[in-house]
Order: sequence, then structure tokens, then C-alpha cells
Amino acid sequence: MGYISVAIDGPSGAGKSTVARAAAARLGFVYVDTGAMYRAIGLAVCRKGIAGEDAAGIIAALPEIDVRLSYQDGAQHVLLCGEDVSDAIRTPEIAYYASKVSAVPEVRKFLLDVQRDMAKKGNILMDGRDIGTVILPDAPVKIFLTASAEKRAERRYLELCQKDRQLTRESVLHDIVERDRQDMTRAAAPLRQADDAVLLDTSDMTLDESIEAVLQIIREKTED
Ligand code: C5P
Repeated sequence: MGYISVAIDGPSGAGKSTVARAAAARLGFVYVDTGAMYRAIGLAVCRKGIAGEDAAGIIAALPEIDVRLSYQDGAQHVLLCGEDVSDAIRTPEIAYYASKVSAVPEVRKFLLDVQRDMAKKGNILMDGRDIGTVILPDAPVKIFLTASAEKRAERRYLELCQKDRQLTRESVLHDIVERDRQDMTRAAAPLRQADDAVLLDTSDMTLDESIEAVLQIIREKTED
């Protein structure tokens, strides 16, 4: 029997990773956070002093970049050339760089095989922007998880304000709207709902309700 792949796509701040991680744990599936891979490349580019707009510079740096995911006690760790950067990639600056590098087709090609290979090795739940449309077009379960920009901004603000006291709700909403625009309008694998994906709007759901809704969709799609 083949392995089951669940593709979850959606805009930033929709709670995708929290929901996907919890659902994967409940199912005993490996959770693959593809955004973390783009963030690791963004971090490498930032550290090298390459501008986010410098596509040629980003492409030239790719051969020196090695991104891997490793799993310790079920938790995903992101390794950049062997260094654990799981925490270092969770900043607004690196989110910005991730969004920039992810618009470069060569960067997407660079990660495509790594991501497809992970789906060949076991049951996975993979989240990102183009999993159902490009990476795993044959996945038996596809979910497009979204929420209103205001709700997403509020959640992201509550998540980040402990770490960054300068942060304002307005700046978080501005960043989210800007990242949506970049992700949806880019030429390479823009964010869009796959035709056969189930739309799940979590604007008015709690975290537990969102997780339960995802599990319900997976059950329905894999039972028949
Ligand atoms: O999901 P997360 O916010 O960590 O993703 C960071 C950035 O990586 C996003 O803004 C998006 O542009 C990009 N990304 C992507 N394709 C994916 C996952 C993330 O383009 N599959």
C-alpha cells in the first residue's frame, strides 16, 4: 500500500502550521513545514548580505546552501548547513526574506525534489503554498486553510508580541496583507486553492475546532 499524503495550503497566519502539526501528531503522520525551508534559505541569503530583490545573487548562493528537516522526539528541526536554525527563522525579517526567495523559480526547483522525496518515505502532512497545486498534485487529501486577514493578523500579533514589544497590530496586519499580495501575484507557483481542495475558513473557529475540522476532512477523504 502507498503512503498517504495530506496537502494543506493557505495564506500566512491562518494557523496552518499549528493546526497541521497537531493533526499530524494525532494521526501519527510526519509533519513537513515547507515554509520553514523557504525561511532557512531566506536566513542564509540575509546572512550573506544579499538583497531580497537580487534574484541573480540568490541563485548564485544556492549551491552553498543545504536545507534539511530533522525530527527529534517528533518535533521538526530545520537545519541550515547542519546548524539548527529552528528559532532563528521565526522573525518578521526572515519572513520577509522567505517571501522574496520563494518568488525565485530556481529556489522553488531547489526544494521541489526534497519535498517530493519526503512524501515517498511515509505518511505525511505537508503544509505550504503550492503543495496541492505543484508539489503533490495527486495527494488524496487537499485542504485550503484560510481566515480573514484581520483574524490572521490578530493571531500573529499575539504570538509575536511577547518576543517583540515594539510590534503593533497595524504593522502585523500590514505585513500580512503585503505577504498575501506577494504570494498570490508572483509568477512562480502563486498561492491558490487547488480545484480539488476542500476550503476551510477558520476565522470563527478556535484552534481545537480547526484541528478537529482538518481531522474530519482527512477521515472523510481516506475512508472511501
Ligand atoms: O508559512 P511561512 O510563513 O513560514 O512561509 C514563509 C514564506 O515562504 C511565505 O511567505 C511564502 O512566500 C513562502 N512559501 C512558499 N511556498 C511554500 C511555503 C512557503 O512560497 N510551500
